[in-house]
Amino acid sequence: MRRSSIFILSMLLCHVLFAQQQKPDAKPKLVVGIVVDQMRQEYLYRFYDKFNQGGFKRLMNDGFMLKNGHYNYAPTVTGPGHASVYTGTTPAMHGIIGNEYYDKVSKDFVNCVEDSLFKPVGNDAANGRLSPSRMLTSTVTDELKLFTQKHAKVIGVSIKDRGAILPAGHMADAAYWYDSKSGKFISSTYYMTKLPDWVNKFNAQNLVEKYLSQDWQTLLPIEQYTESGPDDSPYERKFSGKDRATFPYKLSQLKSKNDSYGLLTATPFSNDYLTQMTFAALTGEQMGKDGITDFLCVSFSAPDAIGHSVGPNAVEVEDTYLRLDKNIEEILKKLDVEVGQGNYTVFLTADHAVADVPQFLTDNKMPSGYFSNAYLKAKLDEFLATYYPGKSFIENISNHQIFLNHDAFSQDPRASGMDMYLITELIGKYLMSMEGVANYYTEATLRQGNYGEDGIKGKVIRGYHPKRSGDIAFILESGWTESGSIQGTTHGSPYSYDTHVPILFYGHGVKKGSSTRLHSITDIAPTISTILRIKFPSGSTGQPVAEMFE
Ligand SMILES: [Zn+2]
Repeated sequence: MRRSSIFILSMLLCHVLFAQQQKPDAKPKLVVGIVVDQMRQEYLYRFYDKFNQGGFKRLMNDGFMLKNGHYNYAPTVTGPGHASVYTGTTPAMHGIIGNEYYDKVSKDFVNCVEDSLFKPVGNDAANGRLSPSRMLTSTVTDELKLFTQKHAKVIGVSIKDRGAILPAGHMADAAYWYDSKSGKFISSTYYMTKLPDWVNKFNAQNLVEKYLSQDWQTLLPIEQYTESGPDDSPYERKFSGKDRATFPYKLSQLKSKNDSYGLLTATPFSNDYLTQMTFAALTGEQMGKDGITDFLCVSFSAPDAIGHSVGPNAVEVEDTYLRLDKNIEEILKKLDVEVGQGNYTVFLTADHAVADVPQFLTDNKMPSGYFSNAYLKAKLDEFLATYYPGKSFIENISNHQIFLNHDAFSQDPRASGMDMYLITELIGKYLMSMEGVANYYTEATLRQGNYGEDGIKGKVIRGYHPKRSGDIAFILESGWTESGSIQGTTHGSPYSYDTHVPILFYGHGVKKGSSTRLHSITDIAPTISTILRIKFPSGSTGQPVAEMFE
């Protein structure tokens, strides 16, 4: 053969091979999105040596890891977190501004997935009147539904209702969550009129009884938990009926004094229960079995409940992530068998991270403190009364926002629109005199601000919804939280201890590697859209992770 024909032949072969690799239908059969409710990026490193090979380490070492992945808005809490991961945008666009937030129209608190149009399915409890309707933009799961003419199957499962409902999106086939009254998984008439047989069969196993009959002991001998503080610590909340926050936890004895089946949510066994539910959904719905990509959204709630109670230095927390590592390993193994290695794509992230226990910080000379909204309200009322005696202008203070009583301005001839402007400025000045307040932002400032702005102001702008949020937003100093208990901790701030979370991609369409460039969690949905070759979610403000495709 002449050299030129060999050249042409080899070029042709390259072309064929390349075309095969790039053929437009090369998509995963299944995407599994895993959200860990409360997880710091640093936990991947702190507990690394104790992890098995097949769980977090498999995702970290065989997938693509973003080492500098952050929430790019505040408040960093569960509902907004799940909505933002799946919509690729922030509360300013998707409208999920809190877990429970003050609703200006009804003048009451609303749950971010509350919807009185629907009823629970699987239980007559009130906690099933839910839907994703308060989420204002589309999710990557919605876009998959639209692209496939609704043939793709989309299911969300979680212990928390919002952890299942928001990720699965508006067009989901189903979302299932744990009902702590019955110990079963339930849903809403938004999705269905009755539970499918596989869910009834799953519920009939009554696994919750099995989990609550065992003791919570550490997975490894307790002296090996050198990455954590002492087990007996003054910074940890205790269960009712137990005088110290120490291992072992005899659940059968604690159950009656700790909300019965509700106790499960405060133990790592709720992650085991959810893992079993994930398997039941996989097989029950035949996910990833045909030529159309399906999407399974899983959210592990136990780390949040436990993290709140005991803080990030507790042995309980380390044990929870070591057990979660086993759950991740089991899920990946199951996917290898049911869908086949290379046929599925996984991403794992968290809906927020967490602050250290403020009292622990104080005791260790670190800046920190406790802030009281009730005290702020009382002081502000007193202060404003010196200017406007007998009037109540503060309607509500919650989620680091102040909602003004707008009726007081429109109905009272003594107070005009000009007064509202003055009162807003007066409140701002007063806030700055309070210990623990770092800064405040009025509605006018936020409206004039740029969505892409850097720094904390940018985070507040991206977390502020022009119709739903309050009149004044304020940010506390680093280490400060809104609560009085010296035990346990929380999250919600724009500081890196709350924003820095793991972002891991693995499997079909994902090359091995890592990046230390700054990425926002809003990049996750457009990245998955790029792998699936579907539209980006409607309000998406993130970008695909370019390093992963280069
Ligand atoms: Zn939380």
